[in-house]
Amino acid sequence: MDDLYREVILDHYRNPRYRGSLPSPTTRHEGYNPLCGDDVTVELLVKGGIVEEVAFQGSGCSISQSSASMMTEAIRGKTVPEIESLFGEFTAMMRGSDDIDFDRIGDLEALEGVRKFPVRVKCATLAWHTLQEALRRLDQGADQAASDERAIR
Ligand code: ZN
Repeated sequence: MDDLYREVILDHYRNPRYRGSLPSPTTRHEGYNPLCGDDVTVELLVKGGIVEEVAFQGSGCSISQSSASMMTEAIRGKTVPEIESLFGEFTAMMRGSDDIDFDRIGDLEALEGVRKFPVRVKCATLAWHTLQEALRRLDQGADQAASDERAIR
């Protein structure tokens, strides 16, 4: 792997961004990668369709934990559609596509080298799939609240 990219990954592993938990997250999900034994919990505070706060906790290999840290930095302050499009771009890169908007990907590009090691790709995408599930639960929660509201009326 490229030395510069290795440095970026190690920096996020040693100094994780937004590691911890939120006092009152609007959604959270715990993801697990049995192939490597990595786990990542993602918590989000979503207001008006914007991810205002994000936090993660977890344990596992350096790829899984640094990817989670990079993800928190990449999604904080973004809208849900922006995050979904970034998710699409990131997973396409990890699947081997070169048709990527690298300006938008930013630091996440550091993980591109991981795709040469297919077993580790799941480590790199764990946080993102966990995020996706947390966002899906948010939708369900909103639907649930709406139907509760209808029931009350
Ligand atoms: Zn791993």
